[in-house]
Amino acid sequence: MSGKIEFSKAGEQTKAIHAGEFPDPVTRASSPNLVMSTTFVTDADSGFSAENMKEDDTWMYTRWGNPTIHQLEEKLAVMEEAEMGVAFDSGMGAISALLFHLLKSGDHAVVTDVAYAALSELTNEVIPGLGISITKVDTSDLNAIEEAIQPNTRLVYIETPCNPLLRLTDITAVAAIAHSAGAKLVVDSTFATPMATKPLTLGADFVIHSLTKYLGGHGDALGGIVLGKKEDLFSLRKKTAIRLGGILSPFNAWLILRGLATFPIRMRAHQENALKIAAYLEKHPRIKRVIYPGLPSHPQYELARRQMKNFSGMLTFQVVNGREMAQKLAEKLQIIHYAVSLGHHRSLIFYMDSKNLQQTSFHLSTSGQLDSWNRFAGEGIFRLSVGLEDADDLIADLEQALL
Ligand SMILES: *Cc1c(COP(=O)(O)O)cnc(C)c1O
Repeated sequence: MSGKIEFSKAGEQTKAIHAGEFPDPVTRASSPNLVMSTTFVTDADSGFSAENMKEDDTWMYTRWGNPTIHQLEEKLAVMEEAEMGVAFDSGMGAISALLFHLLKSGDHAVVTDVAYAALSELTNEVIPGLGISITKVDTSDLNAIEEAIQPNTRLVYIETPCNPLLRLTDITAVAAIAHSAGAKLVVDSTFATPMATKPLTLGADFVIHSLTKYLGGHGDALGGIVLGKKEDLFSLRKKTAIRLGGILSPFNAWLILRGLATFPIRMRAHQENALKIAAYLEKHPRIKRVIYPGLPSHPQYELARRQMKNFSGMLTFQVVNGREMAQKLAEKLQIIHYAVSLGHHRSLIFYMDSKNLQQTSFHLSTSGQLDSWNRFAGEGIFRLSVGLEDADDLIADLEQALL
């Protein structure tokens, strides 16, 4: 073997397999080493505080950096066209470290009104308690974002497609609004994945992924990552990640690396299955509405086609009397698991009751926000994460349970 692969010219599958990895120089092992050591033997002149850490320092302590985690960070940076990534113990670990890194008392942030529930709850309670003000807006409405901007706005935070509505936000347009106000744009791209959208190439400053979902892909390891420019991310690692300490386990990094090898192939298969199931559900007499970005009936289909190269396996549907149907599906489904989470090889379904979620997580306040919610979710939705089983088997499972 000689020389390095030129990843800027390589395809997605080659990047997913080879980026960040290298044969072990001592053993010549071809697959990545799992290094479970917490500490590394150093020179007597090494500093004790991460404050003096340099980018090319040798390994010191796994909370500062670890060779297995490093390979994962490098691979994902190539896949997202980022200069650097810092991995965390979960998606929420990544999100909270980034928010603590970017915001201080007196600052203001504009945050999507519908998002992953724990992010919504964190920005409803904990963050405002630190003297940071938050305005929640429907980020599919560009005027609403512009109106929410204040002189001290440091950050605009979006999720596209957002969990659980699958409502989209135009990244290029929001980046322009954020930057003209001197604010940074953060995109949680967990639902889109780098197969669909590379937000940094559209103007975002930071991308977040829950690696627990499509990137790991097998439902066996929690993880998260923040990606962006080197100067921002090196500072995030040094000032925030190391001190808050929500660092990924090298074992989980290794599992996620293994999952990533098939990521592009999996995403194509998720999309193929989801399209078949969405088409089946759209014709089903018990189904009121199906939302899937790959269907012409999605309210933002034009934006979906422009911004997404893959529509993934996430879809939602509404039925009459959702609560009752949830009971029935939890009892009768044989292949599809009635469970939270998403992006696994296994299909997962979960019912989200609108009233319930509004109270616990979203607190929507304006009529525009409520109208948008009702347009996408009505009284409640089933969120279906279409897995990699045979589509005919999934359809047969739904058919016998929906009766
Ligand atoms: C799951 C999820 C998260 C949180 O990730 P964890 O790994 O569960 O902490 C954040 N954002 C989105 C969009 C998610 O779906």
